[in-house]
Amino acid sequence: MPNQMLRFTKIGTEMPDKRPADIRREDWQEVYGEFARAKAEEQAGRCSQCGVPFCQVHCPVQNNIPDWLKLTAENRMEEAYEVSQATNNFPEICGRICPQDRLCEGNCVIEQSGHGTVTIGSIEKYINDTAWEMGWVKPVKPLRERTESVGIIGGGPAGLAAAEELRKKGYQVHVYDRYDRMGGLMIYGIPSFKLEKEVVERRTRLLADAGVQYHANVEIGRDATLEELRGRHDSVLIATGVYKARDLKAPGSGLGNIVPAMEFLTASNRKGLGDSVPDFDSGRLNAAGKDVVVIGGGDTAMDCVRTSVRQGATSVKCLYRRNRANMPGSQREVANAEEEGVEFVWQAAPEAFDGEGVVTGVRAHRMHLGIPDASGRQTPQMIEGSGFTLQADIVIKALGFDPEDLPALFDAPELKVSRWGTVSISYRTMMTNLEGVFAAGDIVRGASLVVWAIRDGRDAAAAIDRFLSERATAQLQAAE
Ligand code: FAD
Ligand code: SF4
Ligand code: SF4
Repeated sequence: MPNQMLRFTKIGTEMPDKRPADIRREDWQEVYGEFARAKAEEQAGRCSQCGVPFCQVHCPVQNNIPDWLKLTAENRMEEAYEVSQATNNFPEICGRICPQDRLCEGNCVIEQSGHGTVTIGSIEKYINDTAWEMGWVKPVKPLRERTESVGIIGGGPAGLAAAEELRKKGYQVHVYDRYDRMGGLMIYGIPSFKLEKEVVERRTRLLADAGVQYHANVEIGRDATLEELRGRHDSVLIATGVYKARDLKAPGSGLGNIVPAMEFLTASNRKGLGDSVPDFDSGRLNAAGKDVVVIGGGDTAMDCVRTSVRQGATSVKCLYRRNRANMPGSQREVANAEEEGVEFVWQAAPEAFDGEGVVTGVRAHRMHLGIPDASGRQTPQMIEGSGFTLQADIVIKALGFDPEDLPALFDAPELKVSRWGTVSISYRTMMTNLEGVFAAGDIVRGASLVVWAIRDGRDAAAAIDRFLSERATAQLQAAE
């Protein structure tokens, strides 16, 4: 077979077709289409098969990217799938929603040399969507069942990745979630135009078929304490994510129709899933026909502005105190939002909300970016006399999330947390200060990414396996 690789000098970088903005504004389908087979082979063949692949170094799950690109270029798709799924529990999800410009693709050497990145995320999605279509994706079948059980609190990507890895080893796995569906933020946070819900649900069904036992609508803290769970299982993993929304303290912030981002996005996702959502039907959490102002510059803010557009808002503005270059959200998402008609009001911060009973306007002022702080980011400073008002019927606060007070919530004051409220673990063992209790995902690292949650879930599963195996060996030795 002729060499299919190193074609980056002859073939330009190409993403799958992007649906036109005026069409995608009207529906909830994903923005990007799928590569056709020939296009996927061609794009994969642009890879220069680096000896030290920086794409892999910067992928949190250390995907073996050059190998699956080569296999794709050679149309050996089943092998490409095998390599891809070996390091990632939800590869087609990462292919859709990783901020590749900051991770694998941003560090691809041919991107760095000015030839345009290999479109790694889209190819990962293509490989794994093909695998689903062809029926290659099968539930895990452990070689032998083990008697020990593991209780996982939280059915988001961290908890579910750990669940699958633990089932591979034969443990009895129970996932507890306070929501009625598994998937965490993949189901109720991230909108379907980025990640269609069926893509998540086919994965959660696959885990159920692999023997993972789900306990939906069970909130640890309300329905059981951590201590009770420790009594029920040989080991416990805390993977609860971070949900305490940061708030704004400004005059008028208590007015009606000023809503937290997660409330708005959850209502929209539930509606899409066919649930009855009275607050949406009443209009409180529905942007249709309204002037919307979203405050924040992260991925959550991007999801809120684009959801508002699809709900039929009259106008959508995003207010962010820094500039475009300094925003935490993905640049690709900002560009998508702009194409869909969102107006960004850069370097502006709210100072008060107008209205009687419900909000009618946001009073804001312009910001100047001052000297960099300890993290290297320029500190925004208010420009005196720069005030202006934006008309608003609904204001969505997307200012980030902090951990809930887990020791209080779990009735476990002895559980050690950091000064930010994240659960403290030993990075060698992934165990908390409580014997046999581990933690992973956003609740350890703070609000982060799905791919990091997967990585943490995999690492936690390996750590739990080590812990339980060592304990079983010690028990055997003691019995001899
Ligand atoms: P979560 O996904 O939050 O899951 C935690 C689960 O624990 C939830 O299901 C919750 O119900 C459950 N739980 C919490 N407390 C309890 C309790 N006491 N008892 C029982 N169950 C409990 N990342 C990306 O990579 N790409 C994106 O495009 C992206 N977009 C995002 C958009 C939004 C709006 C948000 C909010 C986040 C986004 N993220 C994105 C971040 C990503 O979703 C998270 O980093 C990731 O989901 C964290 O995984 P996790 O498993 O730690 O927690
Ligand atoms: Fe890139 Fe994310 Fe896939 Fe890793 S998991 S290769 S970072 S898209
Ligand atoms: Fe291929 Fe780019 Fe990775 Fe190098 S860095 S192996 S060119 S994808």
